[in-house]
Parts: sequence; structure tokens; C-alpha cells
Amino acid sequence: MLYPTDAEKLAIAAEEARLGGDEGGIPIGAALFTADGRLLGRGHNRRVQDGDASMHAETNAFRNAGRQRSYRDTVMVTTLSPCWYCSGLVRQFGIGRVIVGDDLTFRGGQEWLAENGVEVTVVNDPLLIERMRAFTEANPDLWNEDIGED
Ligand SMILES: [Zn+2]
Repeated sequence: MLYPTDAEKLAIAAEEARLGGDEGGIPIGAALFTADGRLLGRGHNRRVQDGDASMHAETNAFRNAGRQRSYRDTVMVTTLSPCWYCSGLVRQFGIGRVIVGDDLTFRGGQEWLAENGVEVTVVNDPLLIERMRAFTEANPDLWNEDIGED
């Protein structure tokens, strides 16, 4: 099965975000695809579920994808703009493209990625933005913990 369009790829990340929220976690999802749309790995933020502050959605999807020979032709799709840590992962492994579902709620290193040759596409999907608005309003302490605000 292939997910050739950006919307199809983002739908997988959005499903992961919903799963994470249903588990009582932070509703951020991500997935790693080949450029032509083959799903390599998917995941969601697991800070709460695993008690692990480093298990972000992008990291979880990346780990679930296993080893790849090269990441140049892969696409990281995430429901929320990647933080600096996940932006570092994108650069470290040379992921060629990032699709961002929402960069209004939060913005990490996406401009730095674009300046360094990563193709960045911002969708700003109203449903994803609304989900994060509802989450951050209902869980301000957990949200501030996740983005490192005191
Ligand atoms: Zn992150």
C-alpha cells in the first residue's frame, strides 16, 4: 500500500496523534515514508506512556522504521512542527523532506531545516490545530513540560 499524496501521509500521522491522545498522552503523531509513499514507520509522542521525555512522535516513528541505508529520499510527516531535538534528528540522518501539520501551536527548528536544504511543507490543517488547542487548554502543565517551558 502506498500513500503518495501529502494528505494521505499526514492522515497517518494524524491517526497516530489521536491514538496517543486516547492513551492519555500528548496528541502528536508522526510517520516516516519513502518519497513515493511507502510507510516505513509510524509513532506518537510517548512522554506520558513511557515516562520518557525523549520519546517524541518523530523519534518514535523513526525508531519504528528500523535501519535504512539512506534517509535522503525519505519524508518525515509530523502533526506538529518539529522541536529542535527532532529537527536535529532530521539533519543528523539526512531526511530530505518534512511535512508539518501545524506550525501555529508550536514552532521548533523548521526554518533552520529549510535553510539547510530540507524541503519543508507546512499544511496547517484546521483539525490538527483545533486538537492541539483543546489539548493545551485542558493540560497546560503537561504541555509546558513537553515544550520545556517553566
Ligand atoms: Zn521533538
